[in-house]
Amino acid sequence: MKEQEIAQVQAESVKRVHETIDELWNEAQLFLKTLGSFKSTLGNEQEIQSFILKHLEEMNLETTSIEPDLEKLSSYENYGHPEWSYDGRPSVVGEWKTDQPKTGKSLILQGHIDVVSAEPEHLWEHDPYSPVTVDDRMYGRGVLDMKGGVAAMIYAVKALQQAGIQLGADLQIQTVIEEECTGNGALALLDAGFTADGALIPEPTAHRAIKGQVGVLWVRITVQGAGAHVERAEKAHNAINKAAYLIQSLDEYREYINARPKHRDFIDHPHPLNVNTGIIQGGDWASNVPSECTIEARVGFYPDQNPADIQAEVKEWILTAAEKEEWLQKTPPDVSFYGFSAPGFSTSPDSDLFNSLAEGHRLTTNQELESIAFTATTDIRSFEEFGIPATCYGPSGANMHGPNEYVDLASLKTTTKTIAAFILQWCKETQTQ
Ligand SMILES: [Zn+2]
Repeated sequence: MKEQEIAQVQAESVKRVHETIDELWNEAQLFLKTLGSFKSTLGNEQEIQSFILKHLEEMNLETTSIEPDLEKLSSYENYGHPEWSYDGRPSVVGEWKTDQPKTGKSLILQGHIDVVSAEPEHLWEHDPYSPVTVDDRMYGRGVLDMKGGVAAMIYAVKALQQAGIQLGADLQIQTVIEEECTGNGALALLDAGFTADGALIPEPTAHRAIKGQVGVLWVRITVQGAGAHVERAEKAHNAINKAAYLIQSLDEYREYINARPKHRDFIDHPHPLNVNTGIIQGGDWASNVPSECTIEARVGFYPDQNPADIQAEVKEWILTAAEKEEWLQKTPPDVSFYGFSAPGFSTSPDSDLFNSLAEGHRLTTNQELESIAFTATTDIRSFEEFGIPATCYGPSGANMHGPNEYVDLASLKTTTKTIAAFILQWCKETQTQ
């Protein structure tokens, strides 16, 4: 076929697939509602993964489940340090293989099914694990981050199948665990050989493509006090008060790193690097002076910085602050690292992958694709380690990681259509003549 004819056929295919997405839309929303009803927090991913695996089997995909093997993963730069087991906690793959000559490039569509805790649940207007739709917004823990994107990518593929499209390259659907804590779920599939010519993760980006993202690490600081009955409190050293002093010093570290010259991807961002104290644990009785207190924090850093260097810097910052406090000087805190040790990510949006996605976005929205730098991490960084071009593009919504999280359903439908049009651009169709 001539180029013009191919373009014509492609435009017709996009139209047909978009119509199929409209027809499937009620079903897609029901599917998302079901995904949102699984409480798939850390350690509780098996049920949702079995449900998805079965769904992918029904789509006639070749399915596999793989549990992360730490011995194999620990040598990767993107490896995170877990303090838990991977038994019964698989990442899942469904492959749609073409038996025709290859005319396009192979693709991975990947989404994470782990969600962060919905606590405190009493702050939610609805049960976080019984998604409810109000005014075309679906509310529920994880429906935005990122079960919405998972439903979008699965229904994009379903629509291609139902529209009778034969792709010119292999396509994989991957649903992974631990995007929210180590990244080992995505890494496990890449390590097992589930690679491709490109990858897309429909994280909620409000229809923009990610060209850069910060690195993230977790730190744990344990402070010892000298506990006593409150009656003698003036002689005791309150571990919670000492921890509060170190939290203050972490806030000062945050201002210090944001005052340094910014990485080029984040030049326009007023405050790209967040340092967040997310956990504090200490004490068990109002009339006791607590003997121990532990805080855990998340630290962001730039793509050109090495996680190990930042760990050393954070440790030194804390120990230097401790030196300036009478009790902590004699009883220095214990500083350790676990979970995320995730390098940043930076890529040029001038690439085949971004161009194909931009074309899919244009065919769907009639608008140009914008690319952004993201102040959190996603699993695209692991693809970079394997030399696979990758980006994120997904729906909009609000309250990610907070109460009353929701996804905007119109934006999710647009996402589904863009993904389908992008797949046709990237994988191409088998040319029959
Ligand atoms: Zn996410």
